Amino acid sequence: MKVAHGEEQMKAYVAQACKASLENRHITISLNQAKVELADAEKELMWLRSTYDASQKEYEQNQKRIADLRLELERERNERKRLEEELEEVKSEVMEMSGENEETTIQKLQDEIKECKAILKCGVCFDRPKEVVITKCFHLFCYPCIQRNLEIRHRKCPGCGTPFGQSDVREVKI
Ligand SMILES: [Zn+2]
Ligand SMILES: [Zn+2]
Repeated sequence: MKVAHGEEQMKAYVAQACKASLENRHITISLNQAKVELADAEKELMWLRSTYDASQKEYEQNQKRIADLRLELERERNERKRLEEELEEVKSEVMEMSGENEETTIQKLQDEIKECKAILKCGVCFDRPKEVVITKCFHLFCYPCIQRNLEIRHRKCPGCGTPFGQSDVREVKI
């Protein structure tokens, strides 16, 4: 009875040991599977990380490029503004110059006309043209001014004061 009991006990132990070994095997298998899965997950994580890093880098590069482009755009805008201002300045300078030139030319012509008129006009009345010469000094005057000079017996050249008589007055043809 005691022996039988011992056998029973032994059988139970063996069965238990078998069961434990089987379980142990199962555990080992799932552990291995879990390891494989973990390795896969780690690989995937690494891949995701590198992808993330790459896109982060790309994003940063894009941001930098945008900033550069903005800067360049700003520079070009400023340059354009500067050129436009310069153009306006040149335009107004050209306008001023052409206006000045026109004015200067007119002024010059008017001065010349004045000079010519002064040369041709009698220096006493500044009105009538020169038409007679005093042959003693060769000064020219209009006929009425010299005639008046003779009539009031002043008889001195209005230009230089040289005395002259009726016979010293001659008509000129200009
Ligand atoms: Zn005169
Ligand atoms: Zn004279």
